[in-house]
Parts: sequence; C-alpha cells; structure tokens
Amino acid sequence: MADRDYLNYIDGTWRAPASGIYLDTIDPATEEPIARFARSDASDVDAAVQAAHRAMAGAWSRLTPAERGRMMFRLADLIAADRDRLARLETLDVGKPLKDSLGDIDGVVGTLRYNAGAADKMEGATIPLGPAFIDFTILEPLGVTAHIVPWNFPLGMAMRSLAPALAAGCTCVLKPAEQSPLSALAFADHIEAAGFPPGVINIVTGLGEEAGEALVRHPLVRGITFTGSVETGRRVMAAAAHGIKPVVLELGGKNPMIVFADADIDRAVADAAMASFENCGQVCSSASRYLLAPQIRDEFIEKLSTKAQGLKIGPGIEDYDLGPLVSKEQYERVRGHIAAGMAAGARLRQGGGRPSHLNRGYFVEPTIFDRVAPEMTIAREEIFGPVGVAMDIADEDQAVAIANGLGYGLAAGIYTRDIGRAMRLSRRLEHGSVWINGWWMGGVQAPTGGMKESGIGRERGLAGIRNYLEVKNVAIRI
Ligand code: NAD
Repeated sequence: MADRDYLNYIDGTWRAPASGIYLDTIDPATEEPIARFARSDASDVDAAVQAAHRAMAGAWSRLTPAERGRMMFRLADLIAADRDRLARLETLDVGKPLKDSLGDIDGVVGTLRYNAGAADKMEGATIPLGPAFIDFTILEPLGVTAHIVPWNFPLGMAMRSLAPALAAGCTCVLKPAEQSPLSALAFADHIEAAGFPPGVINIVTGLGEEAGEALVRHPLVRGITFTGSVETGRRVMAAAAHGIKPVVLELGGKNPMIVFADADIDRAVADAAMASFENCGQVCSSASRYLLAPQIRDEFIEKLSTKAQGLKIGPGIEDYDLGPLVSKEQYERVRGHIAAGMAAGARLRQGGGRPSHLNRGYFVEPTIFDRVAPEMTIAREEIFGPVGVAMDIADEDQAVAIANGLGYGLAAGIYTRDIGRAMRLSRRLEHGSVWINGWWMGGVQAPTGGMKESGIGRERGLAGIRNYLEVKNVAIRI
C-alpha cells in the first residue's frame, strides 16, 4: 500500500481537486487498490496552467541557462538518492520487475543530467546578409508547455519531455496516465528542494478525456508533448490545431526485426527475447514482428521459444523476469489479440495463455506465433503485450515491403553480416530509428521518434530541447 492519498502539485503546493473526487490506482499483480489520486477537472488544470504562466513571467525567466541547469542537476541528485522509493512505487503501480524500475529511475537521472548540461549550450546563428546588415537568431522558450504521458514508463516518459522543456526555459504542466500517477507525484517531493520557483513544474492527475483534453485546449499552453496511442495522438493534434500549437507526438509502433540467413542468430534471438518481452511487451519500440529468412526461421523460433519458456513470471515487487500487464483492460486486449491470431490461422508456437501458477493479477505468458500472414490483424495492429509474430521474407525487397507496409514507422532492426545490405535497408526503411545487429541502441543523446503515423518530432538529444525553443530572427541595418 502506498503511504498517502496523492493530491495535485500546483504552484509549489499540494492541492486537493476542486471536485473532491479521487480515483484508485491498482496494483496489477494483486488487482488491489494501492492509493487514491485526484481526478482533476478543467478548473484544476486552469490553476496549474495559470501558475505555470505566472512562473514564466517571474524569477524563472531571470535565471541564466546555467543556473537552470544547476537546479536540474540538484533535482537529479535528489531523485538518485530517492531511487529505491521511487522504483518501488513504479513497480507497485505498473507491475514491472523491480530491477527494471530501478533502471528506469537511473534513466530519469541520466535524462535530467544530460539536459541540465545542455541548458547553456543551445546557440543561435548569425546569418550572412551582406555588409549592410547584421542578422542573428535568438532562441526563446515557448512558454507554458503541456506534457501528457502514458503508463508504460511513467516517470521515464515524463522526464523525457520535462527535462528538455526546463533546459529550454519553459514552464511545465504534467498529466500522468490514470493507470500510473504515483511516481510522478512522488518525484514532486524534490522539486522545491532542488530550488525550482513555484509554478515551474506542476502536476495534475486525472482522466485523459477530462484533465488531458482541458490541458491541450488551454489557451495559455504554448506547446504540447504527447506520448501515447495513435488514436489519442490524433485527438490531441486536432485540439492543438485550434490554438495553432506545436505538437510533439510520440505514438505507437509495430516494429519489424528483420533477420537474414547470414545473421548472428544467437544475437538476434537474445535481442528478440529482451525486446519482445521486457516490460511485458508494453514498449512502443518493442520487437513485435519478426521478418525471417526461411533458412533460419525454425532455428530462430525454436531458440526464442526456449528463452521465453525460461522467463520466470510473477509480481514485479518480487523481481521476477516478467511482471503482469498494467491493467485489466490491457490484459483483455492482449488476450483478445492472441485469440484473434489463433482464429485467423496463425500457429501458436509458445505461450498464449495465463501462467497456471498465478490465479490473480494481469499475467500473460510470453507468446510467439509463426505462419503469420501480413494481412492478419496480429501482424498489423500494435498488441502492446508480450507477443511476437513471425513472417517469412524471400529477399530484401519483400522485407522492405512488409516492414514499410503499415501506417506505423517507429523503429526497425536489421540482422545481417552484409554491411551493404544493412546500409541499403537502413535508407529504405520508413522508421524513425533503425538498429543494425542490435536493439534499443542509443540513449538520451540520440534523437528518437516516429515517421508516418508513429509521430511528429524527435525527443532526446539536442533535438529534444529544440522542441521547446522558438527561433526569433533579428535583423539590423548598420
Ligand atoms: P493513451 O493514448 O490511451 O494515453 C496516453 C495519455 O494520454 C494518458 O495520460 C491519457 O490520460 C491521455 N489522454 C487520453 N485521452 C486524451 C485526450 N483526449 N486528450 C488528452 N490526453 C488524453 O495511450 P496508453 O494506452 O496509455 O499508452 C500506450 C501507447 O503509448 C502505445 O500506443 C505506445 O506505443 C505509446 N507509446 C509511445 C512511445 C513513443 O515514444 N513513441 C512511448 C511510450 C508509449
């Protein structure tokens, strides 16, 4: 059980929701409520945005970028010192193994430190207009920014957009997902101690269509970063269009892992076991489609099935390899996809059910299908569970056609020892990240994001900070 009811964090203080209504957050390993948090409405969101607006005009805007950076370094140190508590809350709230949550908190600290160090390194340009002029650009913070995040990496996704916004000099209102508000609220315990003026970082919890929508539509919000599903991304973009607000959209994926006959199969299998099943497959960039040369298909599936069988499943707090899915809704969705795959005639090679030793909690076995046709729903839709589907590829052209054949374009992996082929494919694949002979390579320094319906804009790296900066051009006649 978490240690308290969680209120909104607005203008540097904890505030009850105006409606007085609270929601339960559930431990997905036990199906029991663990804490209550505020169900915020438009008036709570307005209070948070007004606080962020005032902060934008106050002490925050008078700080040098280096001073902002130092606050962020202090916040990183405080979060690092609180690593165990934050990780436990994350695990209780979303189910992931404790070691994964600890890794996520380390990632949060790394993200803050990277962006803190970059705060005073975002430079404008001088433009050569000729001897009669001096022309230069100034990079100015957008202003109040909204950050709407999903539940799969609650604090990680939050910090991925908060940290660059702070580095750029913006103020922020964060809306965590309703399934996983605890870590975002717990990290707020450190905001004041790190030295941030009130109103620079605000956190309002609640439902997407209520608090999230009110945030996106608020006229004082000048930029929106949304991480979540394609469907919600469309709604957010449509609402943002009304106020002509820039959006960064980090949306879903159905990511192909392409394995050719000349690949290091053991490497590919080890990566598939990690990238398909870690976080129970609830990762936007998980490996969810295996596009396999027929010569290595059986070896790949057999070795991957053996690895999947070896994964121990149980409550994340006891640090098993695989925890539960985040919610009942997600559990039913994933089970529905598995049933649809079987009904469509795909061959179930591994898993597919609920582990027999667990009679409560949203647990699903790691699952592998082969003999999957590209037209089947399980080959086309994001399942967001521990499910991989295998298809044959005859050659490079067919691999590209299947890999690029969906609306998604988030991430792709190529496994081959032929460097020419790897380079040809990396150019042809319509995916924001392409990995060669590895998966999830790159860290906070490397930009990430989707092509096509997987998103707009890039997070991480210096590109992530530029999302929060306006370019102003100043021209002087001399
Ligand atoms: P979701 O779209 O249902 O919800 C995401 C967030 O949006 C939540 O905070 C929710 O409350 C809020 N929301 C819902 N309706 C809203 C509305 N009308 N207006 C404003 N906000 C609203 O997504 P989810 O199911 O929580 O997350 C899973 C999805 O996130 C998957 O599709 C996954 O691929 C994607 N994701 C993408 C990335 C990436 O970097 N590309 C990273 C993580 C997750």
